[in-house]
Amino acid sequence: MAYKLTQDLLTPNPYSRPKDKLKSVKAVVLHWTANPLSSAKGNRNFFENRKSGNSGYGSAHYIVDLDGSVIQCLPDNEVGYHVGSHVYTSHALNRLSSYPNNCTIGIEMTHTDWEGRFTSDTYNSTLELAVKLLKKYGLDENDLWLHHTVVGWKDCARWFVNNNSEWIKFKTKAGEMLRGKANLNKEVDTKDMEYVSADKDGYYTIKNGDTFWGLSQALNVDVKTIEKLNPKLDAKNLKVGQKVKVKDIKPASKPSAPSPSPSKKGDMKTTSIVTYLQSIGENSNFSNREKLAAKYGIKGYKGTASQNTKLLSLMRKGSSPVPSKPKAPAKSSGIKSIGKVKIVGVTNAAIIQDVPDRRASKSLGSIAKGATIEISGSVKGKNNTRGYWEVIYKGKRAYISAQFGKLI
Ligand SMILES: [Zn+2]
Repeated sequence: MAYKLTQDLLTPNPYSRPKDKLKSVKAVVLHWTANPLSSAKGNRNFFENRKSGNSGYGSAHYIVDLDGSVIQCLPDNEVGYHVGSHVYTSHALNRLSSYPNNCTIGIEMTHTDWEGRFTSDTYNSTLELAVKLLKKYGLDENDLWLHHTVVGWKDCARWFVNNNSEWIKFKTKAGEMLRGKANLNKEVDTKDMEYVSADKDGYYTIKNGDTFWGLSQALNVDVKTIEKLNPKLDAKNLKVGQKVKVKDIKPASKPSAPSPSPSKKGDMKTTSIVTYLQSIGENSNFSNREKLAAKYGIKGYKGTASQNTKLLSLMRKGSSPVPSKPKAPAKSSGIKSIGKVKIVGVTNAAIIQDVPDRRASKSLGSIAKGATIEISGSVKGKNNTRGYWEVIYKGKRAYISAQFGKLI
């Protein structure tokens, strides 16, 4: 249950660690890193690199990794730049202050896909960390906020913003833990969560910021499909509280042949095993993923991000689902691989950089088009809107531009 905490404080600087003291602590605010499969360390370094002054302001006190370990970037009593905005919700103005950065602690949650799904490890460690902080400052679950509920406009943390019932569950569980009522052996399994929850009649209730496009992304269907099911709704003028029919929608990319086959190509863009399985018409629930994992030789499947990435990669390759002897992992480095990327979109080879910054990096070598390389995560870095893969090169962490590596 206890997570591993590493203190790796940012260097004091005006952009991410101003060293101002918090006036008080009135809330704990959750965020997502908005960068699927990126590591806590990568995000911490992103905050650290802000000290150059070239990439604006921003930081948070803690970052929870995909494996549930936690990096602390700022002491609890210092200001982080995590909820600054030109506007705030009236609730935040009343309960916090006119500048909530001066009275809140921020936790960044890593996640596995663009829908913002968390691994169970990330979810449970965040819960535990949040409860510890609430206790420390005499707060309760009503003092847990999302970046979204502070500023009103940002879809951070996206998973919770788009699935309010899951956010309520998170807060409820935190309250139970605070009062010693929760069964601490029963951790939450994020496999049980649904991105879009429909009521018993198959309707989804529009929340602030929802669009047909957003729903279509979440449901993996065409916008047109949703429009057809809801002829009376004006997509350009959705109102909070309106009901949208979502049940019985068949994923648009689902092949007509229902029989699953590991050689099917499916959705090659997604980094989510759930989306991939749906795209090949395979049941994506946990027990089926567990069965598939066993078939593909992944032992002790728990639904962790690295296991999901591995399963996704094996299924995409269409490799034989006969358990083969696990290869000795190339792990002299101690850096944890979460999968591989294939080099694409270059003439001959991609440059391997020492830092995630196209302009300021040194070349450590190159990797040929079509070759594959292990990755340990991805980071936003600098000077590339697509970000960078963190690759494992000669046992060390290095970087390539995200557009030159395709997750396999
Ligand atoms: Zn945020």
